[in-house]
Amino acid sequence: MVKYKVVVNRSLCIACGVAPALCPEVFELGSDTGRNKVVGKYSTELSEEISVGIIPEELHQCAKRGADSCPVSAISVEEVKD
Ligand code: SF4
Repeated sequence: MVKYKVVVNRSLCIACGVAPALCPEVFELGSDTGRNKVVGKYSTELSEEISVGIIPEELHQCAKRGADSCPVSAISVEEVKD
């Protein structure tokens, strides 16, 4: 099954809320800094600077919508190669 790696550069994020609004299955604003992060269910790494997660294929388009709409290009979504 194809999986995707999502990386949020939280240092760039301006907490506009667009990504969580477009794709709440993958993104949420953190209670720490108020900046975007991958939801706990898919999170593999989290700090104030970065949030990383691995998501299933069915959430790829959802996450991509958030990434494409980010005004500061803080989100990347890439296929995980085996
Ligand atoms: S769209 Fe970009 S700037 Fe807005 S909350 Fe998401 S990561 Fe942050």
